[in-house]
Amino acid sequence: MADAARRLAAAGIESARVDAELLLAHATGRSRAGLLTLDELDGPTADRFAGLVEQRADRVPLQHLTGHAPFRYLELAVGPGVFVPRPETEQIVEWCLGRLAGGAEPVVVDLGTGSGAIALSLAHEHPGARVTAVERDPEAIEWTRVNAAARAAAGDRPVEVLAGDMTDPRLLTGLEGRVDLVVSNPPYVPDGARLPREVADHDPPLALWGGPDGLDVVRGLLTTAARLLRPGGALAIEHADQQGTALPALVRAHGGWDDVADHPDLAGRPRFTTARRVGTTPGGD
Ligand code: GLN
Repeated sequence: MADAARRLAAAGIESARVDAELLLAHATGRSRAGLLTLDELDGPTADRFAGLVEQRADRVPLQHLTGHAPFRYLELAVGPGVFVPRPETEQIVEWCLGRLAGGAEPVVVDLGTGSGAIALSLAHEHPGARVTAVERDPEAIEWTRVNAAARAAAGDRPVEVLAGDMTDPRLLTGLEGRVDLVVSNPPYVPDGARLPREVADHDPPLALWGGPDGLDVVRGLLTTAARLLRPGGALAIEHADQQGTALPALVRAHGGWDDVADHPDLAGRPRFTTARRVGTTPGGD
């Protein structure tokens, strides 16, 4: 165990000790606390553990090795082909739940859902929510479907999973003007940015790259969100640390939004922008 942690630290992994423990838990089929009473490993288990440690030292994401990623109350299945949900995305869900509070059956759309982390958390934590999760990447959406099926089997209201592009003007035409909340963790990394190998080599490129300033996909997303949201409906978009001014400015310049605000994640870094759709309903209210 100590050897494994040293091996990972020497490979430059910051959370070496925790990663070694989680890999040992995975190799032995125990919880992390269960490691306290673990005796000698048998040969095959020791080999399995050593193999996992070597892969982690080679920068395979921890979550790909264990096969799951925690996100709020859920454990999501992840692996090659899908973006690993991050703890810094948990706070946007908290904001969304605040906005949905009081609505009996709010209509919610998660654009670029990946593993389904945001959509499935909202369905889990707001039992009345009618959630649609959109994903354009054919590999990633297989993971969305696996996670959505698991949550439905566990008793959450089923999330509708839809193959589609968040910038497509024909996306979800049936929901136009009827959506209470559009939320997205879109690809927003500026082209050419340097990323850790876990991210650059293992997260799907479609989930990361957002053009020269990182906001290309967001521009299309704003048009889609404006079309889908009812007047007074809420928008929440995750962004990069450096986009805490640029994204709110983009939303304001787009027009048709008020209450534009930016919010930090739990680490205090600028992380997501929110806004309210302006307009009047056809009947007028
Ligand atoms: N936050 C991600 C990262 O760690 C990028 C996510 C995104 O583009 N949506 O690189």
